[in-house]
Amino acid sequence: MNLLFLIGFLEIEWVDILDILLVSLLIFNIYKLMQGTLAVRVSGGFLVLYFLYLLVQATEMELFTVILQQFMEVSVVVAVILFQQEIRKFLLILGKSTDLQESGFLGGIFHRKKTGLQSGFAISGILEAMKELGATNMGALMIISRNLSEMRGYLETGDELDAELSKRLLVSIFNKYSPLHDGAVIICEGRIQAARCILPVSENQKIPASMGLRHRAGIGMSEVTDTLILLVSEETGQLSVAQNGEIDHNLSLPEIRRKINAYLKRKN
Ligand code: ATP
Ligand code: MG
Repeated sequence: MNLLFLIGFLEIEWVDILDILLVSLLIFNIYKLMQGTLAVRVSGGFLVLYFLYLLVQATEMELFTVILQQFMEVSVVVAVILFQQEIRKFLLILGKSTDLQESGFLGGIFHRKKTGLQSGFAISGILEAMKELGATNMGALMIISRNLSEMRGYLETGDELDAELSKRLLVSIFNKYSPLHDGAVIICEGRIQAARCILPVSENQKIPASMGLRHRAGIGMSEVTDTLILLVSEETGQLSVAQNGEIDHNLSLPEIRRKINAYLKRKN
């Protein structure tokens, strides 16, 4: 049915073309997701084992075939355990792109609430805090999120504050002697929701070794959530912003303001 064309004895249908396109898209996205991570090497190991299995099977080495066959049978479970981070990331991205709240009718209802940070004062407070923290070499890690429900799990790792956003409070939190300075601050709906939050550290091997845990955690958070991450380096005083797994270093305050505005104004 619906025969498109014939290659020798192969009957190609429209659905086959669609099938191939979808599989290519899936493989491409999985590759993009795993690029630079340990998962690529692990997959290489899996492939070597699989080819070895095909080889010993073809050459009829019975004992070796049985051993490798046993391994192949449990390989799906092994893969789920080994790739749990990547699978989680993949599902999160999938969930993000089909988030009901962010589209259509529900999007309209929730839009006002989610962009409640857009008042000039709130952004200025963040920028002024970054300026002072950078000038005095106080390290800082701040997450700006447009979706409080996406932050739930991360808020629980720290101390929930639900405090009014101000430069003075941010500077106080990141002061070295403050009991709240370690970890990340999460800002959502125009308020400081929590401090001392623990973020997922990126496993991307392309990140230079010179970058420490603060920057790796910032990049890691931007890989798995739709957030904007603001960083102040304790070592250099430099200001950086991470988003979608990428980090921009040594930014000026107007550049950071533009990024925050663009992030908050985005519809999806
Ligand atoms: P800096 O340029 O400020 O030195 P860095 O990238 O070199 O930053 P570190 O010097 O390792 O990073 O910074 C350590 C600090 O980063 C910790 O004290 C802690 O506040 C924060 N940090 C480390 N790991 C995490 C994490 N998983 N989640 C949140 N914050 C973290
Ligand atoms: Mg450091």
